[in-house]
Amino acid sequence: MTSGAGAARARCVHCKVEIAVPDHYAHGDHIKCGGCGTKHKVVRGDRLRLVLADVGPVREALALNEQLTARLEAELAHARGSFGVGANGFGIALRYALYQVGLRGQPIGAALVTEIVAVAVISGLALELANWAFLAKRQRITVLTRELEEARGEASRMRTILREATRV
Ligand SMILES: [Zn+2]
Repeated sequence: MTSGAGAARARCVHCKVEIAVPDHYAHGDHIKCGGCGTKHKVVRGDRLRLVLADVGPVREALALNEQLTARLEAELAHARGSFGVGANGFGIALRYALYQVGLRGQPIGAALVTEIVAVAVISGLALELANWAFLAKRQRITVLTRELEEARGEASRMRTILREATRV
């Protein structure tokens, strides 16, 4: 913020462009951003500040943001909850293979070898499928987590704007 020529500068709350605030603008006066048209109130405290004049749109955006956050949280909980389904399927295949090959104690013959190969192929497919499902879920969880973080960050930015505006 630099002073000079009867005007001080402060940044737009919305687009962060510098706005020249002439010295005759008193505390509480309204001034519009030349960049984005957002209306501000002049705050003359220990230093010049600009706060939002009309908090309505930010309140609405925050309400929408809270809805989005709730939806993302529910989706994330659901994605986390459905974890382990693929792994369970693989566990069943593995137990089946152990039972067939180990516990049944058949003599090694052509029939058993064929069966072991079949079980191995089925287990392999099950593993591939479980792995694919696992990766897809993990990716979904990563995306949801990032979207949630962004939404929460945006919400906290909007709450700060609202808090500063209502303090005037
Ligand atoms: Zn602006």
